[in-house]
Amino acid sequence: MSEQKVVVVGGGLAGCECAWQLAERGLAVQLCEMKPHRRTAAQTSDTMGELVCSNSLRSDNPNNAIGLLHEELRGLGSLILRLADKHRVPAGDALAVDRELFSADIQAHMFAHPLIEVVQGEVESLQAFAGQPLVIATGPLTSDALAQELVGLTGKERMAFFDAIAPIISTESIDRDIVFAASRWGKGEGQDYLNCPMDKAQYLAFVEALCTAEYLPLQDFEKGVKYFTGCQPVEVIAAGGVQSLRFGPMKPTGLDDPRTGRWAYAIVQLRAENRFGTAYNLVGFQTKMRHAEQKRVFGMIPGLENAEFLRYGTVHRNTFLDSPRLLDEAMTLRSAPQVRFAGQITGVEGYVESSACGLWVGLRLAADLHGKSLPRPPVTTALGALLHHVTDDSVPEFQPTNVHFGLMPALEKVEGQRRLGKSDRKAAHAERARLDLAQWRLDNAGQL
Ligand SMILES: Cc1cc2nc3c(=O)[nH]c(=O)nc-3n(C[C@H](O)[C@H](O)[C@H](O)COP(=O)(O)OP(=O)(O)OC[C@H]3O[C@@H](n4cnc5c(N)ncnc54)[C@H](O)[C@@H]3O)c2cc1C
Repeated sequence: MSEQKVVVVGGGLAGCECAWQLAERGLAVQLCEMKPHRRTAAQTSDTMGELVCSNSLRSDNPNNAIGLLHEELRGLGSLILRLADKHRVPAGDALAVDRELFSADIQAHMFAHPLIEVVQGEVESLQAFAGQPLVIATGPLTSDALAQELVGLTGKERMAFFDAIAPIISTESIDRDIVFAASRWGKGEGQDYLNCPMDKAQYLAFVEALCTAEYLPLQDFEKGVKYFTGCQPVEVIAAGGVQSLRFGPMKPTGLDDPRTGRWAYAIVQLRAENRFGTAYNLVGFQTKMRHAEQKRVFGMIPGLENAEFLRYGTVHRNTFLDSPRLLDEAMTLRSAPQVRFAGQITGVEGYVESSACGLWVGLRLAADLHGKSLPRPPVTTALGALLHHVTDDSVPEFQPTNVHFGLMPALEKVEGQRRLGKSDRKAAHAERARLDLAQWRLDNAGQL
């Protein structure tokens, strides 16, 4: 057994899950949490593992990517999922919890474990932990002093304080009779972008819809935000004037429409979201529009009438790393191998995803400290796909993600089989994940 005490900074969902997994594998853990002395701007309680907004861990249906992740976490012994099940409240097919009981129980487990020492107080500097294995799980609202320290550790250009996420749609739902592949001025591979051409009437109707759609209100601590150009929500650009999108993300120049041989009046570009080509994002379409409105308004884009949204666009306060450039598959900082990151700060997004990341870092760090070798779960599983995405350096402009089937490789085509419908595809993804995770667990039984 290793004699070293592992330091976990941040007693949120990821930090508590990670600390628990380490302690359950015989490792002594010091868990540092700034509550109850300090709270982030989103927190309202003094307990660890707080759900800062909704009390839902989303769909529990294993044929959805998030429900599949629930199932995988349960199978891998997640504390957070076990306590969520224990404090479940009725919510249809969603796994919703009594937030106070849930969070109080997480905290009680941290205090009660003989190998976990909870230290309450803000960590402003990491210097005191030099030489110790360290996991940073301070979440989307990491305190300012520590965030500054992390900037020093990772480099200024590798840490972001806002995310600006454009919607992501499944490749299969794009109408390729309308949408064409081309790169501007023929640069690059020619297939790097898909392009949705608009005529003048379509463009004007689209801008009008954007300007009159319903948007989510800003949180108090998000007000007065100045966006970098390039991260501006699409509605902010549209509000600048009816032509501003045509001179911004909807610029049509250099993109010949093969059906007309000419440039369209305006273009919406789609960029591949991963190396598997299973999902595309709408370039420059980060937005705070309500989800139902995104479906309606972006459904006006030619070729996206039946788009399947794998995730909706968003813009909000979020501290996160450029993980693909910084972290390896163990979530270790390449430039400082004793430091690992877990949870939302790595670019996974959501309660369950953050817990999942905490679980993986706990499992992997425990294996490493015990001198065992534990590979990451296959990319065909929900957990593996999520972890792969946040460390995949083929993605040039990294933005946080929650789990969706578009993160996984496409399903193998079966000769002679008709194309599967949406729900059959989801079920097939889930079944493949189940088989592959079972095999991974079998192969690594001694390392878990
Ligand atoms: C406003 C808001 C609303 C959200 N709504 C949802 C939602 O409805 N559904 C959803 O799935 N996800 C939501 N999220 C995302 C959600 O926060 C994360 O998914 C999840 O809580 C992140 O888990 P985590 O453990 O990585 O971080 P957190 O849960 O934030 O935990 C980090 C912990 O670190 C502590 N900490 C921070 N700095 C220090 C320091 N210097 N020293 C010691 N301790 C420190 C904090 O007090 C906190 O307890 C929301 C996020 C925000 C900001």
